Amino acid sequence: MPEPAIDFEAAGGVSADRLERSLQLHAARTAPGRYRVAGGAHHHWVDLYTTSHPRCDCGDHLWRDRVCKHILAALLREGDERVLVALRELIADLRSRPAAA
Ligand SMILES: [Zn+2]
Repeated sequence: MPEPAIDFEAAGGVSADRLERSLQLHAARTAPGRYRVAGGAHHHWVDLYTTSHPRCDCGDHLWRDRVCKHILAALLREGDERVLVALRELIADLRSRPAAA
């Protein structure tokens, strides 16, 4: 299995905020590395491996060049180690906060 064609460092890494929002999404795998991601205002198509077109068709990825919540939703379903590490850090961070009143 190839590595997803994503340069995390260039994209500013995994944002905790996007990761949290990615957990609300539904992703259906339509082909190897390809997902139809729903649950936001619009559905989006993610393609993790085809280098001839962008990884996701949403504005966050196309215009801001970020690892968007749709890509994160797909990577979680692929068991991507970097995203799982970021998820572990997010949970540790949430646990370290005082409980809401
Ligand atoms: Zn996206």
